[in-house]
Amino acid sequence: MSLIKPVCMKCQKEIKADEKVLVQLKYPKRKGFTEIKAYLNLEGKFICSECTKEIK
Ligand SMILES: [Zn+2]
Repeated sequence: MSLIKPVCMKCQKEIKADEKVLVQLKYPKRKGFTEIKAYLNLEGKFICSECTKEIK
């Protein structure tokens, strides 16, 4: 399974493995979370830990 590299929507920095991120996404209408990774790739907007600090 090839995933798109997640980048921060604020600073465009690549999200590193194990980094804490904030994910903004629409809750899926259809039932079931079996395709959560695919769903995150499609709908997820990531904000890295650095930019999360700025929001607060
Ligand atoms: Zn960022």
